[in-house]
Amino acid sequence: MAVVSRPPLALTDLDDAALQALVQELGGKPFQVRQVAHWLWQHGATVADDFKNVPKSLREALLARLPARSTAVAKVDAADDGTEKLLLRLFDGESVECVLIPDGDRTTLCISTQVGCPVRCVFCASGMFGVQRNLGAGEILEQVLHARHRLAAGRSLTNLVVMGMGEPMLNLDALLPALARIHAPDGLDMGARRITVSTSGYPRQMERFAAEPTPYGLAISLHAADDQLRRELVPTATAPVAEIVAAANRYAGQKGREVTFEVVLLEGRNDRPEDAAALVAALRGSPCTVNLIPWNPVPELAGAHDLHRPAPGRVDAFADSLRRGGLKVTVRRQRGADRSAACGQLRLRDLENG
Ligand code: SF4
Repeated sequence: MAVVSRPPLALTDLDDAALQALVQELGGKPFQVRQVAHWLWQHGATVADDFKNVPKSLREALLARLPARSTAVAKVDAADDGTEKLLLRLFDGESVECVLIPDGDRTTLCISTQVGCPVRCVFCASGMFGVQRNLGAGEILEQVLHARHRLAAGRSLTNLVVMGMGEPMLNLDALLPALARIHAPDGLDMGARRITVSTSGYPRQMERFAAEPTPYGLAISLHAADDQLRRELVPTATAPVAEIVAAANRYAGQKGREVTFEVVLLEGRNDRPEDAAALVAALRGSPCTVNLIPWNPVPELAGAHDLHRPAPGRVDAFADSLRRGGLKVTVRRQRGADRSAACGQLRLRDLENG
């Protein structure tokens, strides 16, 4: 995979020290650094007029040096239930998706960390073509800024899940500074308990993530507790299930919060009684909840891998087996069901249309 190391593309790529250095280099005073940051992160400023109380010469010099953002919303796909999928165009013509999911008082945003995905889960459109590149910190942060701008008056982002395209643990260099900005009180001010990062299970990188002082939530896309079956479904994430569960348990202990194990259910592949029994055996005693996600069909993959969404009765039976085994279980409702619902599908359509 091409790991991109490049100069900052936009102000969103700068950490606090770099932003301070730039503003001061342009003649700004320390208090004006705070003003610039305030308009950038709390108000989503993009053009000179947005930086209300910053001297005109400073705002113009700043934006002449770097644009506020490097991405633009290329397409919005809205479902009848209010779910909005945003396709963002990146500086090099690539694209990524993020998804806004309103649900009662909550509004959750799901963001991406890579263009494509190297994990290549057999059921996922994002992994169909592998990974093109990592996103930069600014490209990750900008998904939140764009999505926040679309919220109706009176609504705010209540939850952030890093569960879109890409494997977050393979891009921690960009993800961690982006999350720091999103979490910081003088950044986007989102509490750590409202931020969850999802991984296919990379124990070494999970240790680095655990070393962060901020207690972000952690979700593990497990899909199967049997190593051989898991390798069929998640071909490149090859760490043994026992190691992944041990790393998750350590994280839960260190942060004082339980982890979530996600299981995308595929009829006849991983929703059989023996699959439930294997999950119970692997997760019994772990401080966790198991989240069952009936597969959102991707037509291109359904035929190629003979995949099917399980009927509701099978999902209920699977959930009951886990509960009888002592596990806490939730079942995810399907959202955005009518249009490009599964992760990566909007980008897939964009690629198909050239
Ligand atoms: S499900 Fe997640 S980890 Fe798997 S290919 Fe898709 S984006 Fe990558």
